[in-house]
Amino acid sequence: MASFRVNALHACLARLSTARVNAHAGLIADTLVSLALLGAGFWRNEVGIAGTVATFFFGLILFSLVEYVFHRWLFHGYVDLMAQGHRQHHEDPAGYDALPFFMPPLAMLTLAGVLATFAPTSIALLLTGALAAGYAAYGLAHTAIHGKRFQQPLARRWAASHHIHHHHPDRNFGVTTPLWDIVLGTRHVPAREHGEQH
Ligand SMILES: [Zn+2]
Ligand SMILES: [Zn+2]
Repeated sequence: MASFRVNALHACLARLSTARVNAHAGLIADTLVSLALLGAGFWRNEVGIAGTVATFFFGLILFSLVEYVFHRWLFHGYVDLMAQGHRQHHEDPAGYDALPFFMPPLAMLTLAGVLATFAPTSIALLLTGALAAGYAAYGLAHTAIHGKRFQQPLARRWAASHHIHHHHPDRNFGVTTPLWDIVLGTRHVPAREHGEQH
């Protein structure tokens, strides 16, 4: 009976994670939780304006590294549970594969609670808020890259970088920013540029 319930829950979550409504609810929930955490951290005002801005930007840069590490070593790694959903996205880039919408906000709130046990509460809230903002930006960016045709040349180049990843899965792991691909040497270099170097 218990295993039947676990199986039913698993099936329900699996269905949810490919539904369009879940993907959209996730983008909204991620944005709202980041705004709530940042607002609460700003409101407590324990670290002054310079500390607030520094914590926010540190959190954004930290998120971009987390995004790179997860994508390179977990989504394209050997842990099948992590790689499975991402493989589906590579097979069907226009699909709606996403985590159940309530999971990332719950993880962010839990992280804020854990950090607050050993850091000033406003730092815990601002840092988690910035990580959540980065995650929300990642979700919105990834959705836009696969759903929109950009006109602006810089935006087209930025989107092309992720489309290249879909053709070369060992290159361009950063979606929001190419920063860590440049730093860690996984930026795709077009064959034409390779030729020019020799
Ligand atoms: Zn993609
Ligand atoms: Zn990938």
